[in-house]
Amino acid sequence: MTLDSPKQRIHAIVIGCSLAGLFTARVLSDHFERVTILERDPVGDHPESRRGQPQTRHLHGLLAQGFRIINDLFPDLEDALVKGGAIISDMGEAIRWYHFDGYKKQFTSGLHAVSVSRIFLEWNIRNYVARLPNVAIQSACAVRGLVTNNDRTQVLGVHAVTGNDGEKETTIGANIVVDAAGRGSSAGKWLESVGFDRPQEDEVKVGVGYATRLYRRRPNDLVGARLVMISPTPPRQKHMSFLFPVEHDRWIVSAGGWFGDHPPTEESAYLEFIRRLPVSDIYDVVSRAEPLSDVFTYKFSSSLRRRYEKLTRFPEGYLVLGDAIASFNPIYGQGMTSAAMQVQVLDSVLHQEPNLTGLWQKFFQRIAKVVDIPWQMAACEDFRYPEAVGKKPALTDLTNAYLAKVHRATHHDPVVYSQFLKVMNLMAPPSSLMHPKIVWRVLRGGSD
Ligand SMILES: Cc1cc2nc3c(=O)[nH]c(=O)nc-3n(C[C@H](O)[C@H](O)[C@H](O)COP(=O)(O)OP(=O)(O)OC[C@H]3O[C@@H](n4cnc5c(N)ncnc54)[C@H](O)[C@@H]3O)c2cc1C
Repeated sequence: MTLDSPKQRIHAIVIGCSLAGLFTARVLSDHFERVTILERDPVGDHPESRRGQPQTRHLHGLLAQGFRIINDLFPDLEDALVKGGAIISDMGEAIRWYHFDGYKKQFTSGLHAVSVSRIFLEWNIRNYVARLPNVAIQSACAVRGLVTNNDRTQVLGVHAVTGNDGEKETTIGANIVVDAAGRGSSAGKWLESVGFDRPQEDEVKVGVGYATRLYRRRPNDLVGARLVMISPTPPRQKHMSFLFPVEHDRWIVSAGGWFGDHPPTEESAYLEFIRRLPVSDIYDVVSRAEPLSDVFTYKFSSSLRRRYEKLTRFPEGYLVLGDAIASFNPIYGQGMTSAAMQVQVLDSVLHQEPNLTGLWQKFFQRIAKVVDIPWQMAACEDFRYPEAVGKKPALTDLTNAYLAKVHRATHHDPVVYSQFLKVMNLMAPPSSLMHPKIVWRVLRGGSD
């Protein structure tokens, strides 16, 4: 094995070729001579859901902040998505959103929503990354552990097995290894095996279950909106469903519930679950539409955050990001955007730091700030349910009492809804909802 000098930026390894790994490789390609993505699954040349990322069959909404970053990272991607059938629309105009016992007021928000299947989005991004001259994607290559120097202070590469049956062991050297292996990342185990502590974990148990189905989309299926979201009024209701248009004239419908109240998969029971939602907008479409897939399910037990920023010892040359750092209750649609924001931090620290030594500390400190906001937003909403178990963020009950009024104000006040959409899309800080102009509008009630 030949190993590059750790002081140089010759070779970077990314573990995982899902979205966080692809974003990472794109950024590292600006900073390293060569980048290799190692992916455990065989990766084909068409849009498909792989074993290592079963969530990709389910509806994925991309927040406006994520879409903005992705457009910066991958110029021309938007054109490719639209050519392939993605639908881009103004969020405020396009979404018919029932939430807290009322429809939010549709208005022109200036925030763009891209409606596309998760596998088609990833396939386009993967094609882009695969065309970068200094990036290689090695699929059917499972990383099994870290290679370190003798005193175990520096990661020098990875041990891996390659081939569809994992038949060949190999060692690959690198100046930096970035773990984007998702929630199931073995980073904690690997760190322990070379003498470091695992990160502390924060968990909020939500017991969410999803069931998703694709349907044929006809032009007049939905009038006056392009997407529908039906969200519950917690703790009274526990069910939700979203209907988004995706490429090839299809609808994707995900229905879900908290704390074990999950949608069934049997056809008529699935429809009945959707029929029992407080409004009929999604039922009206899917009860008449032709199903194009089975009903796929996914169980998500808890939001999970790994506190790498609290570690005081860590090997040089190793970073972790994406769902491997934080996987959020998917109902809030934050994972892809959080990964994109974390990768922006990676880009920034690599620009600022001339050498890689000590990079991990600055990286994890800054990542923690990026994760804090979506984590607290998701956790606060989940703690509206008394069944939620975990560390409750400070002032959750007070925040939720005020946000309930914000949600109700969005039914009639486009100024409040506009600010709420910006916060939800991670385009503005949550504190902006406490601006006196917004507080006054929220508290006075009434229409605009
Ligand atoms: C049901 C559900 C719905 C969701 N909906 C949304 C949504 O609406 N909006 C949103 O933004 N986010 C959503 N998310 C989250 C989103 O899917 C993830 O945040 C996003 O895919 C980024 O994840 P990732 O790349 O970090 O990890 P993953 O997508 O989990 O990918 C990890 C990759 O690493 C590979 N891998 C793992 N171990 C190894 C190894 N040892 N060696 C090599 N390769 C390895 C895996 O095969 C996989 O390809 C949802 C999640 C779920 C579960």
